[in-house]
Amino acid sequence: MTTGPLAAVNEPDPYGPARRRMVEDQLRGRGVRHPRVLEAMAKVPRHLFVDPAFIPRAYGDHALPTAEGQTISQPYIVARMLELAEIEPPDRVLEIGTGSGYQTALLAHLAERVFSVERVPSLLRASQQCLESLGIRNVALRHGDGTLGWQEFAPYDRVLVTAAAPRVPDALRDQLGERGVLVIPVGGAESQRLEVWRRRPGDRWERRQHGECRFVPLVGRDAWRDGRETTE
Ligand code: SAH
Repeated sequence: MTTGPLAAVNEPDPYGPARRRMVEDQLRGRGVRHPRVLEAMAKVPRHLFVDPAFIPRAYGDHALPTAEGQTISQPYIVARMLELAEIEPPDRVLEIGTGSGYQTALLAHLAERVFSVERVPSLLRASQQCLESLGIRNVALRHGDGTLGWQEFAPYDRVLVTAAAPRVPDALRDQLGERGVLVIPVGGAESQRLEVWRRRPGDRWERRQHGECRFVPLVGRDAWRDGRETTE
């Protein structure tokens, strides 16, 4: 039986086989190896986070539209970000871009506590309902501009940004703790690269660039505004 934050998920469910195929073909088959990430992806019912019209395609190898012109990311990209973040149970994680709440639910499974910020109120309300209906309780959600982070609960062990940024927002670096890891897609509007920033002792930073990806824009004070990069 499932225990912990996913206790409310009843197995078997009609989408169990599709979800297991997703894990085998799209994730393990493409080199995702982290056992806890694969386990979480095999458990979280992705179909409950998509618009009802898209439920038959919930486990397909693609992103899907959500309300307000936003997206729920492709399963592989979600898994890749989670693997790169190297999350362990004592970690407190800040997520920018709650969106559907799907990645938030996965984070809730991997970390001790999750703090997630979303700028579109209707998305936040829907994701809150979905997370509550699954019995997930170690998540705090907030409406706001995530480029400013969430100062109240900083420092965080991990920060994940699920929207495309022109650069790493200063507040997110500031709110990352010693030895913390930040995962963020950085680039232009058309394509980005996943970047992993690690805070080393003495406020040194190590940056690694990974594969190409395509996210909706991070819109806020320290990112894009109306499709243009802000300079303040
Ligand atoms: N992780 C999400 C993907 C959401 S897409 C999922 O699994 O569904 C990116 C989300 O980032 C969108 O919902 C968008 O509204 C949000 N976003 C964009 N700019 C933001 C900002 N400055 N602060 C918070 N959320 C932001």
